[in-house]
Parts: sequence; structure tokens; C-alpha cells
Amino acid sequence: MKVITTIREMQFEINRQKNQSISIGFVPTMGFLHEGHLTLIKKARKENDVVVLSIFVNPLQFGPGEDYDSYPRDFERDRALAESGQVDFVFFPSVEEMYPSSPSIKITALNRTDVLCGKSRPGHFNGVATVLTKLFNIVRPHRAYFGLKDAQQVAVVDGLIKDFNFPIELRPVDIIREQDGLAKSSRNVNLLPEERIQAPVLFNSLQTAKMSIESGERNTQNIISIVSKMITMETNGLIDYVEVYSYPQLKPLERLSGTVIVAIAVKFSRVRLIDNLIIEIDEGILE
Ligand code: AMP
Repeated sequence: MKVITTIREMQFEINRQKNQSISIGFVPTMGFLHEGHLTLIKKARKENDVVVLSIFVNPLQFGPGEDYDSYPRDFERDRALAESGQVDFVFFPSVEEMYPSSPSIKITALNRTDVLCGKSRPGHFNGVATVLTKLFNIVRPHRAYFGLKDAQQVAVVDGLIKDFNFPIELRPVDIIREQDGLAKSSRNVNLLPEERIQAPVLFNSLQTAKMSIESGERNTQNIISIVSKMITMETNGLIDYVEVYSYPQLKPLERLSGTVIVAIAVKFSRVRLIDNLIIEIDEGILE
């Protein structure tokens, strides 16, 4: 495994790989790797000749007052985990390497960003789209792997790939969870001990919503209410949003039908957690 910190060297290595007609799988991350990231890596390893993992805490996607400074970082630990996942190249650039001067072009994510994290984190997806445009151009992967924990991100990346004609296959990966149901996240280390105990309620509330949908509930507001009540009653967290949309279009629904996402974001004292459930509504259940 090779660690690369400059764009120039990364492009040189990619050129070398491309000359050998080799397929490249790319896993972009912000590091502090966990089982979720490793699952993306495993899938990339299975489907490609070469696996590139990027580790970059992208300042552009953090708003003022968000957790850019306190975002957990541990490169040596990440390096060992990447090695164990048989990554070929770790791209680990500095902020100065990625953004050496103020930009002359701005990328604005327009679609599907007026809801969920796009609404509560203004500019977040512009930052995501900008860094991914750069990373896609540097790594030029055949396939790129993204987790459905960030389901809105998957939808936005799909738009980015299509709009800018990146010859990249988007490969979404299911949410990986702790044994108690909490979605794995680098940010979980910033939960206070008592918040860590409460945090699985996010998953439990989604499971309750799922059961309710499976027994025929189709009213969007009722689903939102079930989830919100559980989170309010069983955690000290503050609900940022509990919303239900069609997926991946992220259009509002009065009644559930088709593929639907129930998405939540909850603010704890030092960390904001997100989770979601994507469910195919089987109209047959009602009959
Ligand atoms: P991050 O380092 O948080 O930016 O995440 C990098 C990639 O890993 C993103 O595509 C995330 O959606 C994905 N990811 C993070 N946590 C999980 C998880 N628990 N399950 C599946 N994918 C995840």
C-alpha cells in the first residue's frame, strides 16, 4: 500500500494504472475509519483491480459553528486499517494541496438540496460536490463507493456524475451498524457516555416506523410523529429533522408509495447524528 499526499503523484500513479487497462475503485472518506468505511473498501476490493481510498476532512463542506475542528482524526490508525483492507493507494492530501488558492469556479448543488441535510447545513452539498469533482478528476475511477447512511449524498452524487458526465459507476452500500443498531460513524466518539446509551433510539425509532408501515400505515405525518415522539421521549437529543420523502427524488409525499426514505438528524451536545430507513412500499400489504 502506498500513501500519497500530492495531486501530482496521485495522477502519475493513476496514469500508470490506466496504461495497464486496470479498473479503479474509489472510496472517498474523511478518515477515522470504521467498519462502515471498511465495508465500502471490501466491496471496491472485490469489484476492481486497484482500490484508492481518499482521506480528507474537507473544510468546504462544514458550515460555521460545525465540527470541522473537533472532527476526529488519526492517520496512523487509518493507515493500518486501510492496509488491513488491502487498499492499494491512500490519497491523503493537505487542505493547502487541495485548495491552494481561492477558487475561480464555484459548484452549486441545485437539486435535492432544499431538504434534509441540504436545508439544515446550507452550502454543505456545494462543498461535497466541489471536493468530489476534484477527487474524481484526480483519481479517475471506474467505480465510486458511497454509503447509504448519507442517502442524500448518494442522490446528489448521482446528479453530479450525470450532469458532468463523469464516466463513473456509482456504487451505493447499505448502512453498517453497531450491535445495538447505532449507525457506525466517525462522529460517534464525540457522544457523551449517556448519549451513547441513548443513541440506538434513532435506529429503534426507524424500526418502529418500519413495522408501522409494514402493518399498513401510509400517512406521512403519522410516521414522522411516531419517530419524533420516540426520539424526544427517549433521548436528550434535539431533533434537527424527521422527514419522509420519495427516494432518490427527495420529493414530499402525503401518502407513502414507491421507494420512500424516512430520514432523521438529531443534535446531541457535541455531535449531530443522522440515520435513515429506505423502504419499498408494497401496496399488496393493504389488500
Ligand atoms: P465519511 O468519512 O463519514 O465522509 O464517510 C465516507 C463514506 O463512508 C461515505 O460514503 C459514507 O456514507 C460511508 N459511511 C460512513 N458511515 C457508514 C456506515 N455506517 N455504513 C455505510 N457507509 C458508511
